[in-house]
Amino acid sequence: MAKVLVIGAGFAGHTAALYLGDALGRHHEITVMNRAERFVFIPSLVWVGVGRMDPAHTEFPLGPVYAKKHVRFLHAECTEVHPDEKFAIGVRRGGSGEAVRVDYDYMILATGPHLDYDATPGLGPEKGHTESICTPDHAVRARDHYLECVARMKHGERQRFVVGTGHGQAACQGAAFEYVTNIHKDLIKRGVRDRAELTYLTNEPELGDFGVGGVTVRRGARQLTGKEFFGAVIRDADIRPLTQRAAVFVEPGRVHWEDYDANKGQTEFDFAMLIPKTMGRDIKWLDRDGQDIAGVMVNPVRLLKVDAAYGLPYEQLAANPEAWPSVYQHLVYKDIFGAGIAFAPPGPISRPHINANGTNITAAAPRTGMMSGIIGRVVARNIIDLIHRGRMTHGERMSEMLAVCIASMGGSLWDGSATALVLYPVVPNHTKYPNEFGRDMFVTHLEAGLGVAWMKRMIHTTFMHKLRARVGWKIIPE
Ligand SMILES: Cc1cc2nc3c(=O)[nH]c(=O)nc-3n(C[C@H](O)[C@H](O)[C@H](O)COP(=O)(O)OP(=O)(O)OC[C@H]3O[C@@H](n4cnc5c(N)ncnc54)[C@H](O)[C@@H]3O)c2cc1C
Repeated sequence: MAKVLVIGAGFAGHTAALYLGDALGRHHEITVMNRAERFVFIPSLVWVGVGRMDPAHTEFPLGPVYAKKHVRFLHAECTEVHPDEKFAIGVRRGGSGEAVRVDYDYMILATGPHLDYDATPGLGPEKGHTESICTPDHAVRARDHYLECVARMKHGERQRFVVGTGHGQAACQGAAFEYVTNIHKDLIKRGVRDRAELTYLTNEPELGDFGVGGVTVRRGARQLTGKEFFGAVIRDADIRPLTQRAAVFVEPGRVHWEDYDANKGQTEFDFAMLIPKTMGRDIKWLDRDGQDIAGVMVNPVRLLKVDAAYGLPYEQLAANPEAWPSVYQHLVYKDIFGAGIAFAPPGPISRPHINANGTNITAAAPRTGMMSGIIGRVVARNIIDLIHRGRMTHGERMSEMLAVCIASMGGSLWDGSATALVLYPVVPNHTKYPNEFGRDMFVTHLEAGLGVAWMKRMIHTTFMHKLRARVGWKIIPE
């Protein structure tokens, strides 16, 4: 009987656990260790943050789902992993706080991001002056603050909203873009849009970059760039774009930034939601003598090193689609896999920029929910392969992966809107697609409108169905 341990039950780990439980659960020991008792559908926190969705609709308890799939669930936070001796230590949450040891033959690290607010002084809801929508608690706090601003506007005050990235190397611009466009739509509905000033502050080289090097699509005989498309969206909504900027520190009501040309500036706000830089979770990696082997296991920002070509200069990385990992397996400890945000990408997809002050303003490579789910499936299938046949048969590099991102721009099914961004592949692959963009121009697509808002809402419902392992879950793609 093999023992498989999944640490983290977000999009990557939970997807992996469902496939593992389905294929192996009856005859092998599958354990999920997760810090939270519930799964959170993070994409819908954008709607929570404007008071248009009850946070309870974004969550469900994991235990009953795993019980159906013969997966053991441990509500515990992993604190150490001992790769030589193949065990992990967790601390039980929500009760005793006792330590628990889990032995494994295969382990998947899928612990998602540590939200590193401390990387930008003054950032974040706990120690700083900005809001966040990255966790349910933060989104509820952001909502309450947002609704206070709405109340002020109803009494005739003007309010300034700044939404975007809170660090030069943050990722997840798509979520910030969704949030600012949802605020725009929501303020119209609440009858106070004329009293609000909206700014989108971002480390992207241009609008529509989203950390994937931008997107260009064919529209009949002409090409449409992400900059043109999202620039029009922002102009239409009267949102002021501030691109090529790194937020460097925040004080009450004011964010200080630097731009590509090393100019320093500041933008004042009554409400700011800025996405922090992310890194890997603080887990100790110890060898059989108790020595710290983090240097072997993880990169300097604590993300698991896997089968990627690390350390390549940007131009070489951009020219080498095979530098991106295929099986997400650690190169030394081959029984350890990384999935979702927990694995270390070999570098950024968007062109990096360091300004004359030495400030790095580079939109980091995203690993969205869909990509995380796909990687979770690939890793789970390979572990199933290894247990059944002793070899892996699956692989999917981000330079071969299709990604669909649907950005809500107002969730209403009557007058909302959304943009569907279809990228194939996520990381430009100039070997396979020797055009200027390195993508399949037939598949790569941008579409906006009310119909896409319906799709976005359906995705919430369909994915909550899939992730609860309800009838037909396997035929719904990640
Ligand atoms: C506001 C917002 C909107 C977004 N919108 C979209 C969208 O529309 N579409 C899209 O595709 N993506 C979207 N994303 C990105 C998406 O949420 C992430 O890509 C995805 O959550 C990453 O999945 P993951 O499994 O790697 O990490 P997570 O989903 O963060 O899951 C990690 C899990 O590990 C657990 N954990 C952490 N540390 C430990 C530990 N030490 N021990 C045990 N468990 C631990 C956590 O509790 C969590 O359950 C959005 C992100 C944000 C913030």
